[in-house]
This record gives sequence, C-alpha cells and structure tokens, in this order.
Amino acid sequence: MVTTATPIQEQEPKTVAHYRSSLRPIWCAGCGDFGVLAAFYEALVALDIDKDNLCVVSGIGCSSRFPGFVDAYGYHGLHGRSLPVATGVKMARPDQTVVAFGGDGDYFSIGAGHLPHAARRNLDITAIVMDNQIYGLTKGQISPTSPQTMRTKSTPYGSHDMPINPIGYALMYGASFVARAFSAQRQVMNKIMTRAIQHKGFSFIQVMSPCVTFHDTYKTYKDITQPMPEGHDASDREGAMHLAMTEEKLSLGVFYEGEPMEPPGDYINDPYIEVQQTDATERLNTYLNKFA
Ligand code: SF4
Ligand code: MG
Repeated sequence: MVTTATPIQEQEPKTVAHYRSSLRPIWCAGCGDFGVLAAFYEALVALDIDKDNLCVVSGIGCSSRFPGFVDAYGYHGLHGRSLPVATGVKMARPDQTVVAFGGDGDYFSIGAGHLPHAARRNLDITAIVMDNQIYGLTKGQISPTSPQTMRTKSTPYGSHDMPINPIGYALMYGASFVARAFSAQRQVMNKIMTRAIQHKGFSFIQVMSPCVTFHDTYKTYKDITQPMPEGHDASDREGAMHLAMTEEKLSLGVFYEGEPMEPPGDYINDPYIEVQQTDATERLNTYLNKFA
C-alpha cells in the first residue's frame, strides 16, 4: 500500500497576541508600565520564545502584577523576593528563559539584599526594574530612588534622603549586563530587553516608568534623559561606572555588557538532571525523611 506523508505544517510566526494573557492590566490610564509590557511582548516576538520555556516572576507592587499579563509560566511572589524565586527557577530549569520584574521599592528597599547576590552569581536571569521613584500601590510614599526634598504623604516637609543610583549599584555588584530605558520610548526599550534576554548572564535594566497618579514624571524624564553618549564603550565596566556616577542627564541604552557567561558546570546541570530523573513524590519523601 502506498502511503502519503502528511506535510509538516509550517509554524505561524508568533505575534504579540500569542503572549498576551486573558487578564487585562488594571494599571491607571497612562501608567508607564503599559509601555514596559508592550515592549516586553515585542521582545518575546523578536526572540520567538516558546511560552513553555518562559517564566516571568515578580515581587509586590503595581509593576509586579506583570506575570498575570503574560501567557507563560509565572510567579507573583512576596515583596522584594523576585530574585530568589528567579534563581530557584533557573537552578531547577536552566532551559527556561527567566525574567524577574519589580519596582524601585521592591528592588532597592525590602529586596535590596538580593540584587548584589543575584548579580555576582551571574545566573542567566533578566531583572527589569520599573522605576517610578515612588510607592504607587500604597498610594504615594517616597521610595529609595525618590529625589531629595520630594514631598509625599510620608515626607510632608520634603525627603532628606539621597536617592540611590540603580545603575551604579548594579555595576558595582558585578551584573554582566546593565542598561537603562524609558517606558515612553518603546522601540528603544524592546531592543534593550531583547539584548538583555539574549545576554548569557545576569542582566539588569532600570526602566524609568512614570506613575501618573502619584508622581507624574513624563515631562521630567523627557527633559532629563538623553541617548547613550556616542563613543561609550559598553565593554568597559569602569567607564560605565564613571558615566553612571557623573552623568548630568540620564543616559538611555546599554551601559555595560560583559563577556557571555561560562557555564559553571555541575553547579547548574547536576540539580537539573536530578530533577528530571526523579519522581516528584520520591523527591518530597527524600526531603521529608531528613526531618524524621
Ligand atoms: Fe501606575 Fe502609579 Fe497607577 Fe500604580 S498608582 S498603576 S504605578 S500610575
Ligand atoms: Mg515604585
């Protein structure tokens, strides 16, 4: 009998709709986080990432609602703890593209202790901080990136605190990819995200993402940002640090991109193989037996 092979259907190119979940964002109209979400969808399309191989994690805050809006694996966790969760996911499933979202409060206040260690560990995770210089979800208190003298409900006479420098912070702790974007410049942002996700190692992006309700900075950010200075050498960490500490206007683009990570061998692969080869119940029992 002659059989005819069924032609293999060509895969349709993925679109933004492919990655959009059925949950619609409840951010305030005009919130900068919409631009970040749109750029992220576009980066996923550009990279043609398989949903089954994508895990989006977050902490707590307006921006941390992110995993709900992406049709992939997701984890909306505890305040400031997106990076420990992202680290665990990457350790267990190195084949996954892991992206951790959070806000300035999440990353630089309650979760500040995690960024240095995620950066120096240099696992292949992308951390995207939506920085609006305020706590938006709790209705407008100063955050670690709020400008000095800023008046809020928690600082009615003006803040005394110096804001931290997120780019300097990430560079100092050894992040191997460090960039800044502005949520109103979606095309630039999605290119930076694409490059960050492709980078093998820990990538950090500070996205200036205005909170229109409690600290509307669209105009300010337009005035105080500039393209990355021509001739900036993104392979020079010291040069990037110098720029981050001395820039009069906030530069948008890639400050630093180091060499791709050398896989740390068994550190990643052994747990993965073990996870793949053993039954979940067996693993749980082995763990519980330690306490018997
Ligand atoms: Fe966005 Fe601010 Fe509204 Fe939160 S409170 S959704 S950060 S505009
Ligand atoms: Mg914030």
